[in-house]
Order: sequence, then structure tokens, then C-alpha cells
Amino acid sequence: MIGITPDSIPDNLFRVLFEKSPGSLLIKADAPQFTIAAVSDAYLKTGRLSREAVVGKGFFEIYQDDIDQNDDIAARKIFSRVIRTGEKIDVPVYRYDIFEPGADYKTPHYWSFSNIPIMDDQQQVAYILSTFTDITGEVKAKEAAQESEHRLLLAAEATGMAFWGLTLADNAFSYSQQMAGIFGHPPGTPITLADVRAQVHPDDMENIVIKAFNQALIDGSYFYEVRVYWPDKSLHWIRTKGTVQYNKNKEPVRMLGTIVDITESKSDEIRKNDFIAMASHELKTPLTSLKAYLQLMETKLSGTTDPFVKTAVVKSGNQVNKMTALIHGFLDLSRLEPGKLKLIRTTFDINSLIEEVLNESRILSNSHSIRFESSYEVNINADRAKIGQVISNLVNNAIKYSKKGSYVILQCEVGDENVVVSVTDEGIGIKPKDQEKIFQRFYRAEEDEQRNISGFGIGLYLSSEIIQRHKGKIWVKSVEGEGSTFYFSLPVGG
Ligand code: ADP
Repeated sequence: MIGITPDSIPDNLFRVLFEKSPGSLLIKADAPQFTIAAVSDAYLKTGRLSREAVVGKGFFEIYQDDIDQNDDIAARKIFSRVIRTGEKIDVPVYRYDIFEPGADYKTPHYWSFSNIPIMDDQQQVAYILSTFTDITGEVKAKEAAQESEHRLLLAAEATGMAFWGLTLADNAFSYSQQMAGIFGHPPGTPITLADVRAQVHPDDMENIVIKAFNQALIDGSYFYEVRVYWPDKSLHWIRTKGTVQYNKNKEPVRMLGTIVDITESKSDEIRKNDFIAMASHELKTPLTSLKAYLQLMETKLSGTTDPFVKTAVVKSGNQVNKMTALIHGFLDLSRLEPGKLKLIRTTFDINSLIEEVLNESRILSNSHSIRFESSYEVNINADRAKIGQVISNLVNNAIKYSKKGSYVILQCEVGDENVVVSVTDEGIGIKPKDQEKIFQRFYRAEEDEQRNISGFGIGLYLSSEIIQRHKGKIWVKSVEGEGSTFYFSLPVGG
């Protein structure tokens, strides 16, 4: 066909092969004409052209000089360069719009465009073989990925959020540019994992960061809020959230996450907590004297025969006790900042503690049949008052959320490592969607039955904090309308 086909291949076979090839064009090196010598069917189809309209015509008779393209990839320049240098020139991305099948308007298309010189006997470029591959799909996918990355970065910038990644094998730490600012450094300051950790408040490092890290390796998600010191010695709060990535052997290999400065919202929370602490403290004093007066009245009225006066004094005393318990709850709540809830551990028998709490509950209310069969002595090392508070919370809830006269049953079972205490009631029960949330602060199920039952949604939150600080667990099993069982477990060794 062009005098350079191998002798063994007939010219017409060679032509057929060429015409069946994907997007190819054979161009004569007769600049400035660049006559089209052969064209493949696929090429004609994409351009909606006929072979007669193309073969024998100059390339730029069919296509205008592509002055829109940047100078380096304009077709005339490329062809001329192939002829001059005798080297193959690739254009990785070339825009040329075409008609989609059935459409009467052109849509943007991207091509990878390769130009191979074909030499004659004198080693001069005789032809250029141009092949076009449609890469519109890849270009669009890349554009979409860049667009979403751009949006993510904009969102991160707007919220002041930084991204980080940690390779577990070598502690290699990577992060986005907001990271420096979050730790109080000028933009662009290089930061290592050790630098970041050195800035975390020492109490939080030990009590929160290390624990969260070890926990993440077990359950795959990483979350904490801690205090950090900036280089100018000011104290800030940060929140980080992340997930662990595993290899195919299910071994953790990498952690990825976000980090954000929450100083402002945390300061509001701290102010609110301080307010609750102050208000509760101020309320305690008048309440204590009210209680003392009521006790005095009870003694003075011991001889009275007026039944109303007698019960009124006892009921007032009970209400004062309820209010005192609530106020203590608020005080504890305000003490729940990291490291603030201190445990005073002693070794004691949990059975006798349960008995003690139940006796108090029975004194306060005899509306339910409370059952507990204590077994042999089970000594644990824990904060007795706080565990007592948890049991009392669970028992009071069991009473509060069930009908008068129903049973409340307590059990204490001892395993090799844990002791599990359970409180079962025959009350209103809890919907599955609420079961996950009732341990959150201020959460209350919004059931009609519950409308008239007073509460603030802090009892279970406090209980779960206390149990977690003891390295124990607290959970619930419940069927709506049938009742609930709350469990907590504590390590026997303390
Ligand atoms: P409070 O009782 O003051 O609302 P808690 O933190 O003790 O706060 O309980 C949170 C929520 O959990 C309650 O509002 C109630 O919806 C639900 N709940 C707790 N204990 C029980 C129970 N024994 N039966 C049914 N619902 C319960």
C-alpha cells in the first residue's frame, strides 16, 4: 500500500487490517497539506464521516486548525514535530467534541492521541500514524474525584477541620494543612505524632487518648475530646473522630480521621456545668435545713393522733429526699469533666451494698415488691458510694417506670472475672431505638406513658459513666410493654 509493507502480507490484507483497527488515521508527511492516506472504520464512525469524504483530503481541509488547544498540543505543531524529529509524540489528553450516537449536537470528548512516524527507505518520515483512544470516561471520573476532593477541602476549611492519617507499622503521620492551626502553630509547620501528643494535657493523655487508641484497635472507631496546650500556653479543646483500616488478615494497619477545635462550644458547656454546680450547691443548704426542720417536726408530732399531719410530715420528708437525690445528681453531672470524677476505692461485699440500697428504697416507697436473694459474700474493689448510687438509680427507675404492686427483682451473679448485677421490672419497657440512647446525657424516651413521670435523663448517664470508670459495662434488655432488665458488670479484682 505504501511500499513499505512486508512482502509476505498482501497490500489489500494490510489495508483491511488498518481499516478495522480502532480510531486510526494514516497521514502523509506532506506538510502543510498532511493528506489523509487511510482511515479506520471506527474513526469514520465517531466523526460521522464517509471514507470518500476523507481519504485524499488534507487533514486541515477536514478539521480546522485547532487553535483552541494550547500551543503544544495543536495538531499542526504535533505533526510538524513528528516529521522534524522522527519521534513518536503522545498527547495524553486532547479535547475534541463529537456527536453521540443519535444526538444532533456535539458533546465534549477527550482523547488520548498518539502520533507514530513511519519511515521510508531514506529514513525520512513518510507517514504519521495517528491513533485516537476515547478517554472521556476516565477524564470525567477524574474531574468528579477532583471536584469532590475540592468540595471536601472547602467544607473542611469552612469548619476548621483537619484530616489525619496514621500508619500503625511506623507511626507515619500525615495531615491536611489545617492541622498546624488547630495545634496553635503557624500554617505549614511540620508536625509529628510525638509533637501532637506532647501538647495534650497529661491527665487526658493517660485517661483518654491512650484508652481511646487501644479501644479503637479493638472496635475500629476512634473518638475523644481532650485539652491541648498551644505553644503560647493557652488551653484549647479538640475533638477527633476516626476509623481503623484493616488488611486482609484483619490486622489494623492504618487510622484515618478528622480533628476539630471545639474550644468555643466546650467553654459554653463548661460554663453551663459550672452554673449547674453552683445552683445545685446553693440549693443544698436550704434543703438541708428544711430536712432538719421536718425531722424535728416528726419527733415533736410523734404523739399526735391526727393522721393527716402524720402522713403529711412523712411525705414532705420523702419529697425532700427525692429533691436531695436530684441535686446530688446534678452536682455529679457537673463533676464529670475529664479526670474530675474521682473514685474512692475500698474493698466491700456487693451483696451487703445491694441490701443496704434496697432497705433505703423500701423506706422511701413500699409500692412494689422488691426481691433480692443475696448469695455468699462477693468482695469487689470499687467506689462503694458510687456503685450504691448506680444500684439506687436502677432500682428507682424500675419503680418509677412500672405499675404499683409489680415485682422488682435484683440478682447478683459471679463469674470468673466479673460480677453481674441485674435489676428486672415488669414495667413499660423500652423501644429498641431508645435502648441505644438512654445512657446518653439528658435522653428520655418520648412515650405517652412516660409523660407524667418526672426526670431529667441524667441517672443512666451518670450510672454508665461510673461503671465505665470502673472498667465495667452497663446494658439493658427490654421488651416494650413487658418490662426491662438493666445489667452492670464489674471486674471482681477491681
Ligand atoms: P430519668 O429517669 O430521670 O428520665 P434516666 O437517665 O434514669 O433518667 O433514664 C433515661 C430514660 O431511660 C428514661 O427517661 C426512660 O425513658 C428510660 N428508662 C430508664 N429506666 C427505665 C425502666 N426501668 N423502664 C423503662 N424505661 C426506663
